[in-house]
Amino acid sequence: MNIHEYQAKEILSAFGIPVPRGRVALTSDQVERAAKEMGGRCVVKAQIYAGGRGKGGGVKLVHHPEQAQELAKELFGRKLVTPQTGPEGLRVRRILVEEAVEIAREFYLSITLDRESSRYCLIASAEGGVEIEEVAQKSPEKIHVLSIDPFTGLRPYQARKIALALGLKGSVCEDCVELILNLYRACLEKDCFLVEINPLVVTKTGWLMAMDAKINFDDNAMFRHREYPDMLDYSQLDTLEINAGKYDLSYIKLQGNIGCMVNGAGLAMATLDVLHEFGGEPANFLDVGGGATREKVAEAFKIILQDGDVKGVFVNIFGGIMRCDVIAQGIIEAAGEVHCTLPIVVRMDGSKVEEGKQLLLESGLNVQIGENLGDGAERIVKMLG
Ligand code: ADP
Ligand code: MG
Repeated sequence: MNIHEYQAKEILSAFGIPVPRGRVALTSDQVERAAKEMGGRCVVKAQIYAGGRGKGGGVKLVHHPEQAQELAKELFGRKLVTPQTGPEGLRVRRILVEEAVEIAREFYLSITLDRESSRYCLIASAEGGVEIEEVAQKSPEKIHVLSIDPFTGLRPYQARKIALALGLKGSVCEDCVELILNLYRACLEKDCFLVEINPLVVTKTGWLMAMDAKINFDDNAMFRHREYPDMLDYSQLDTLEINAGKYDLSYIKLQGNIGCMVNGAGLAMATLDVLHEFGGEPANFLDVGGGATREKVAEAFKIILQDGDVKGVFVNIFGGIMRCDVIAQGIIEAAGEVHCTLPIVVRMDGSKVEEGKQLLLESGLNVQIGENLGDGAERIVKMLG
């Protein structure tokens, strides 16, 4: 789960990491007032669930409160496109107004879960800032990586080694050691998948500060943090994804015209591949998971139909834990409720499969049964052709 920069900075600050003075604003008038409070000269930062804002015009230094207000009006009025958002861009609903800091040097610092080693991994570079992706690609030797042993945790000597590798000396080096240890503590206590400070800066007056912050919570630990869902900014999510999330379904939007309902990520991948083989293009796929109920299947089906690109639906379900007649009932219920006349192909297998097929064929829906995955894919492509 993502949160905004200003929320991430609040968390880091609570763990003793210095951040610039700032205020989050929801309207351009609030931006103006916040800019006044910062002394006029300040940095206006669009809050979206993506980075690369500097390059996309979402982070700008302004010199007067009026200038901040003008810029805010422009940002609130449109979707911000950055190298990380895709061509659609993301709508700006919140703006962080921050004191303008005189920066001497920019570093990169992050801790993330490395799935391969099942450990937290600390990544640091003396060449931080907006070009970090290029540094990683062109000069990987400038990126320092440390795999953290979960039993010993991050030790101060390891943090010091990183601080020295960044070229820091004296008291700034010691500040950096403390900051790295605090970052690790925040990462553990908040169950993060990623905490990233890019750039971590040394100011012209010689202080360390987190100038940007990104936190991604580990969704698996959500049950331990009841406050996390309240931190979500729904304006940054696809509405269908939000609905799917409510029913614990995973929905992924794609570019074609066939809506796909599957159970399990592996089956989803196979379904997309086989559809492609027969010349079909998936509009989305919705994974209903293992033990879905009739209600859940019905919701899933309705979410798929809400996608305007969907011209036909392909259901590919292996009823191991799920019973096929239950799936069929869910589909019939949902299709009836939204008066669906679109072509539907259902391929299912598992317990009570004959009962399921029977129910569907007697339902009056525009439905065909796929005998196997290939046959089902071919049918839906033909029905749309
Ligand atoms: P993004 O990573 O999305 O481009 P950042 O928050 O990192 O956004 O901002 C981009 C750049 O703007 C930073 O690398 C830094 O150089 C500069 N910057 C950001 N915030 C401030 C600030 N408060 N004062 C001065 N410069 C800033
Ligand atoms: Mg940044």
